[in-house]
Amino acid sequence: MSHFDYQNGVLHAEGVALPAIAEQFGTPTYVYSKAQLLENFDAYANACAGRDALVCYAMKANSNLAVLNLLAQRGAGFDIVSGGELLRVIAAGGDPKKVIFSGVGKSVDEMRLALEHDILCFNVESIPELHRLNDVAGALGKKARVSLRVNPNVDPKTHPYIATGLKASKFGVAFSDALDTYRMAAQLPHLDVAGIDCHIGSQLLDDAPLLEALDRLIELIDALAAEGIHLHHVDVGGGLGIDYGVAGEEAPAPAGDYVTRVFRRVDAWRTERHAGKGIKVIFEPGRSIVGNTGVLLTKVEFIKHGEEKNFCIVDAAMNDMARPALYEAWMAMQPVKQTSAAGAVFDVVGPICESGDWLARDRALPVESGDLLVMKTAGAYGMAMASNYNTRGRAAEVIVDGNQVHLVRRRETPAELFALESVIKD
Ligand SMILES: *Cc1c(COP(=O)(O)O)cnc(C)c1O
Repeated sequence: MSHFDYQNGVLHAEGVALPAIAEQFGTPTYVYSKAQLLENFDAYANACAGRDALVCYAMKANSNLAVLNLLAQRGAGFDIVSGGELLRVIAAGGDPKKVIFSGVGKSVDEMRLALEHDILCFNVESIPELHRLNDVAGALGKKARVSLRVNPNVDPKTHPYIATGLKASKFGVAFSDALDTYRMAAQLPHLDVAGIDCHIGSQLLDDAPLLEALDRLIELIDALAAEGIHLHHVDVGGGLGIDYGVAGEEAPAPAGDYVTRVFRRVDAWRTERHAGKGIKVIFEPGRSIVGNTGVLLTKVEFIKHGEEKNFCIVDAAMNDMARPALYEAWMAMQPVKQTSAAGAVFDVVGPICESGDWLARDRALPVESGDLLVMKTAGAYGMAMASNYNTRGRAAEVIVDGNQVHLVRRRETPAELFALESVIKD
């Protein structure tokens, strides 16, 4: 069941009519459903029940404190990609001991901060990073738990910008170099070799490439064990896709089914090869936790009839939602007022002075100036990627819980946008 449905001809988030939210908080506003968020997390958590497993939400997908807090209360760990994200986890009441730190460019300061908070593991992506981490940990008199992000060279069949596990990718250590890199890591005195990880890409509808990547990690775990390097966890990354409503696209694998298939693989390994005993499995889902929890609520400013195209100019723009401009992502647009009229065909565009500022193309929409529209499935990589381009304040964010609406990020004011700047004084 969706938590965004028409009731009496008006689109609601759970029990709240979207026009009421527009009235109270203005537009554009991100509207999230608490029930949907918890259902998505529980799909992972329930499938992990009774297992040695940890779900580390990849918070770059949506890092609002209220979202993090709800997930932390549910027992989530977090996959972070910066020191700033670690501080967010802590501010949201999350447990740093359930944090894993990914990313190719961790700074000395970020490493120090993460070591001081005793995070669960650093997912290391290169040899120079191993040396830097060893030095930083040594200076603090600590040992850093590390996992190597291995590049399994599995094609995730997704958009090139979100494919991360191929040979040409900037991410991870090549599969063929992995054993040597582990041997080296095991020699460094201030590192504790704890695990192995991968993350092959995002928006994967079929989980077969994810399972194939797991098989390749298992090969390496066995090879390392034969040399006396015993790993404590295997981190299968994130990447599970969601249904954006694209016509003709296959349905994504449900998270619970995917998790079950991961454990089936791990169990088969245990029985066939008498290996993998006591290994913890870590998941790093981002999009599949938050994507369908949110819509971007926007108002039509003008309808403009161009020479070749009709434009529906709305008050949300590429600075609010970058996915179409960045990846030509197809995002569903839906009027808030239910109607049977087909409407004219429009490009839905924002007010920003860039031709790349579009949200949707060639959509039949029964809308007039002043109407409300939503962009659906906007909870992941929406607000998280928002900018202030064109000196536009970022959208407000609200979480709906039943009949209640909680403002979890107020709209930015213009003065706040240049408050950190100053003119040169002579
Ligand atoms: C972005 C990212 C994820 C989450 O990816 P989704 O496709 O949103 O599930 C997980 N792990 C790493 C290392 C990432 O960079």
